[in-house]
This record gives sequence, C-alpha cells and structure tokens, in this order.
Amino acid sequence: MHDFSALIRRNLPSGVMRLLEITAAEAEARGLTLYAVGGVVRDLLLGTPKLDVDILIEGDAISFGMSLCERFGGHLHTHRAFGTAKWRIDTAAAAALDLPRAELPPFLDLVTARSEQYAYPAALPTVAPGSLRDDLLRRDFTINTLAARLAPRPLGTMIDLFGGESDLREGIIRVLHKASFIDDPTRIFRATRFEGRLGFRMDAHTEGLIPEALPYIQHLSGERIQHEFELLFTEMRPEHALARMKSLKVLEQIHNALTFDEWIGEAFENARAFVAKPEWNLIRVDLSAIYWMLLTCRLVDTDGVAARFRLDRHRTGQIMQGVRMWKALPALEAELAPSAAVRLLEGLSDESLIAGYAATTAPLARHNIVCYAFHWRFVDASLTGNDLRAMGVKPSPLMGTLLARLRDACLDGEVNSPDEERAAVLRWLREASAES
Ligand code: ATP
Repeated sequence: MHDFSALIRRNLPSGVMRLLEITAAEAEARGLTLYAVGGVVRDLLLGTPKLDVDILIEGDAISFGMSLCERFGGHLHTHRAFGTAKWRIDTAAAAALDLPRAELPPFLDLVTARSEQYAYPAALPTVAPGSLRDDLLRRDFTINTLAARLAPRPLGTMIDLFGGESDLREGIIRVLHKASFIDDPTRIFRATRFEGRLGFRMDAHTEGLIPEALPYIQHLSGERIQHEFELLFTEMRPEHALARMKSLKVLEQIHNALTFDEWIGEAFENARAFVAKPEWNLIRVDLSAIYWMLLTCRLVDTDGVAARFRLDRHRTGQIMQGVRMWKALPALEAELAPSAAVRLLEGLSDESLIAGYAATTAPLARHNIVCYAFHWRFVDASLTGNDLRAMGVKPSPLMGTLLARLRDACLDGEVNSPDEERAAVLRWLREASAES
C-alpha cells in the first residue's frame, strides 16, 4: 500500500503539499472527511504528477469551500446542482496561506461525494449526495477510482476499492460495471484517450462492451462529442486514440463520413514537427485547429461533420479554410511564379498553411507554402494609390488592377525599385491607352 504523502513530497512542489495539509487541517477541525481522488492519485502513482488536485468531501463541498474562502480569501465559483466548488487561489489567498503563489495550483476543485443515476442511456446523470464509495462507483475506469485520504489524518492513506492500483501497474483500462458505456458513451472516447496517452489497453471484457454501446453515441449531443475531441486534441499523440476509435467503429457512429487512416496520422505528426521547429517561432499556433482541418479536409461532407460536432462559426471557418488549402495543393505542386502561389494561398490562416504543409510531402508544394508564409505574403509594392493618383490615375477599378499588377511584378522580381515600379506603371498605362 502506497504512502501518498511520501509520493506527494517526492513529486509535487512543496507548496501543493502544504496546501493539502492546510486544507486537511481545516476539514479535520470541522469533522469532515476529505480525499484526493482521480487523476491526481493516478498520475502520482505513474510518476507524472499534475498540479490540479480534485478534493472529494463526504459532506457539503460548497460550505467547506466557503469556510476556506472566509479564512484565506480567494474566490469561490459554485455549481449548486452538482455540489461542486472551485476555489481560486489568488495572490492574496497565497499570502494568507503563507505559501509562494508560483508553487500553488490556480484552483482547488472541491466536490461533494455523490451518487449518480442515468434516466436513460447517454442522458446527463441526476445526482444525490453520497459516500466515497458511491462517488467512486460513478467513475469511468478503475485507474480513476483511487483515492488518498487527507482528513482525518494521517494524511495519505490510499483507498483502492476497485483494484485500480493493480490495473495501473498492468496498464489496463477497465470499466466498473457492464452498463458503463451505455450509461455514458463519452467514456468510450475517454477509454481510447487514456489508452493513447498512457500506452494502456482496455481489458477484453471492457472492449467487448463497446459494440452494444455504439448505437447510443448517436444520442450524444454534438457539444459533448466536440468537447471530447477538443480534449483529445490536447494529447501528445491524438492519432493513437483516433486509430482505436476507427477500428472500434466509433468514428462512423459520430458521422458516417468520419474516418481515420494512416495518412491522417502522418499528417498530424508532420504538423507537430513543423510547429516544434524553433526557427519558425510559432508559439501561438492553435494545434487543435490544425488537427480539425486534417481530420476533415478530404471529406465530401465537411459541412455535415461540422454540424454533427456543433462546431461554432470560428471552428467551422477554420475547417473550411482547411478544405480550401487541401484543394489548392495539386496546383501548388509545381514550379510557380510567386504571384501565382500568392493567389492560391492569400487569406489562409497560419493554421491552414501548416495543415497544408503537413498534408503534402511534395517538395514544391511545401516550398511554395513556406515561401508564402515567411516571405511572399509580406511583399508589397512601394508605390501606393496616392502615388498612382499623383501620376494621373483616377480612383477607379483600373487603379486596383494596376496596384495588384504592381504587387505581382514585385513578387516575381520584374521590378525592384520605386523607379522601376513607376516605369512599369507608365508602360502599362501607355499599353492600355493604345489598346482602347
Ligand atoms: P486528465 O488528466 O485527462 O484531466 P482526469 O482523470 O483528471 O484526467 P477529468 O476529465 O478531469 O479527468 O475527470 C476527473 C475525474 O472524473 C476522472 O478521474 C474520472 O474519475 C471522473 N470522470 C470524468 N469524466 C467521467 C465520465 N464521463 N464518467 C465517469 N467518470 C468520469
């Protein structure tokens, strides 16, 4: 049996350990029983600790949160229907706790132990206050049911009601009961996500429960499925879970056009490799957007898929840019004048350019995309509309045409100085008047 406090001391910043000690002392003074549960215990045992700690209380988490807030400050966000509270530990609270802010998590999640019932498959559950056991019973997999008691002390007694520790050791994802995936089909997504992240595998019984739960995926709202995919896209290698979802026939239940193949896996890898190159300095790139694009750009019914996921206008716009990028690729796989490449790529976001780069291995297409992204899109003529007006061109469609032509000439190296630009404009004007 593990000594949780020793694990925390070894693996977590001392500030977090102190925070848990202080919280436990507060709970003890109020006669409450307190546990650290779920991911934090799992990840500590795996040696990959995370900062956010879920605290489970046999009792009212909201009034406990309020007492922490009264004593130490900070802010409390409550969810009365679920009996949960999020204690935001701001600078003042960190000072009152006498702990360095940098070593503290921004939030402490406080949860009332509860039992859960599903009125019908894939429904959102109805909840009622319950015991630790009730609360652990409603969880997805045994590896997420480990709890460490924080109060009453001694702090750190491990509670393992469902064999989570041995499954963690053996790398097994196991549901707690046979209706688990039917009650909540999002657990199928979670199972593949944990498999991919941890290199674990569902046991045969758990995997065998998926086929009968597949039809219930249709009952999940687009928002819930979208949320699962957004979580998936924060994983290091989302393609692992997608490959499993494909082979378990999960993707086609979401939308019959949705699929996964090696091409997508490789494109994901290419995109990550591109974003990771220090010379690009691409800190702000939205990798999830790139994944969405690569997942959907080759589909016939991109609109239908976007609608099924209930993607908002922003995400839908992004995947439509992905489609435009995908369609431009064949034309980009050629020696092009820079101006021609610019016409194909103009207006595309950084994310869609990276998606395009990741979607092709054709050297010329990649060359054109990189040149556009880092050079060509910043090229402009030095003459402006005002300069043209001073040369006698009236504001008119002709002026727009001349400015565009001038930019093309700059891009293609046909003019290389303001004087050359001016000479080119005068020549075009002469040609135009000769023609009319
Ligand atoms: P992560 O590292 O991905 O954040 P986590 O285990 O902390 O993993 P959360 O999504 O934050 O995952 O959920 C917290 C806990 O709530 C989980 O450990 C799990 O026990 C439980 N849980 C979350 N979603 C479900 C679900 N759909 N069904 C049952 N239990 C769930």
